[in-house]
Amino acid sequence: MLVLIANLGSTSFKYRVFLMDERGGVVVAKGGYERVTDHAATIDDALATLQRDGVIDDPSEIDAVGFKTVLGKNLSGCVIADQKVIDALDGFAAVAPAHNPPYAAGIRQFGKSMPHAKLVALFETAFYQWIDEASAQYALPKSWREIGIRRYGFHGASHKFIAERSAELCGRQDVAEISQRLYLDGPAPVAGKPFRVVSCHLGGSSSVTGILNGVAIGTSMGFSPQSGLPQNNRVGELDSGALPYAMRTLGLSLEEAERQLTKESGLLGLSGVSNDVRDIEAAANDGNPDAQLALNHLAASIRHWIGAYMIELGGIDALVFTAGIGENGPRLRNAVCANLENFGIKLDPDKNAACRATEADISTDDSPAKIFVIPANEELVLAREVYRQISNQP
Ligand code: ADP
Repeated sequence: MLVLIANLGSTSFKYRVFLMDERGGVVVAKGGYERVTDHAATIDDALATLQRDGVIDDPSEIDAVGFKTVLGKNLSGCVIADQKVIDALDGFAAVAPAHNPPYAAGIRQFGKSMPHAKLVALFETAFYQWIDEASAQYALPKSWREIGIRRYGFHGASHKFIAERSAELCGRQDVAEISQRLYLDGPAPVAGKPFRVVSCHLGGSSSVTGILNGVAIGTSMGFSPQSGLPQNNRVGELDSGALPYAMRTLGLSLEEAERQLTKESGLLGLSGVSNDVRDIEAAANDGNPDAQLALNHLAASIRHWIGAYMIELGGIDALVFTAGIGENGPRLRNAVCANLENFGIKLDPDKNAACRATEADISTDDSPAKIFVIPANEELVLAREVYRQISNQP
């Protein structure tokens, strides 16, 4: 079965095509487009490329298209991407404005461009459905909670891949199996020692998730992608009292305040340099104090959440770095792991410096907890769930 995984931004479209069977999947093609203005033409071009490259003879050979949808109103999990998914995305479009509208539009467009293919959505929130209510709720009046304000969590497919892969790397095949089957069977008891992971997805947007026996127990991302760690240009954690204070004092409209919090804040806002950690590191090397402050703030925020989940988990067996910054950023990994030896987390500086964008164990040989760099592979998680959804495979 051929499954195309569509990664949609407002002006970008990336894809991978997986050949799937009951044992798993392999990537048979991938590609991407930037500065997209006409999504229909771009999909047609991608299909023509797949034909020209001999991946398919006809677009009808693609059995399914999978979408990594972010946040649905009253909807999560892995579901057929029909009108109810579009409605759920539209219902929270204002909460995830950079993510929901491109996916709603993309699902509509794929439905037209590839009428033969089954469309499937895996919500990024799905991995967090077993989080304890005490961690998922905010201390709000009932009327706020009734309109869906709660902690949802994002980057679910990425953190789920880390749950599976870190268990495999630690020889915990039992836990890897539980995590792989999580959306079919739900959480399952583990014989023997619990397996405790803190996963740091650090990229254009970032989150830290605590994982016990293959299941998320908590995450730094809250109601919207504007929460938790400082994001590339989005604020991350902010005291709710700051918003009305800034609006009144600076004379900002709600729209303008929202724009500044979602486009001019985060690492960009604090550094005043860029939303890209590479540029910020270069500026810090040149002695820019604001750039150094942004890097320090990011590291401190990551450590804050690691500490929170180590307490919840009762310890840690593996600390994992993934996504663009996590995979490529030895400097940040070093800052995050500083002085954690007493907690059983010992970074090997040489292994850390040598590791870029490859899977590696960067802990010392005597470190009680492993420290891994694991390249993100959310597409594989998605392709597998899509395959199960449409083939009714157990
Ligand atoms: P997205 O969330 O947009 O998919 P990625 O996971 O690709 O993002 O991460 C992109 C980020 O990774 C960039 O903004 C950049 O800050 C960071 N990054 C990429 N390469 C490096 C590097 N060599 N050193 C430090 N950071 C890097």
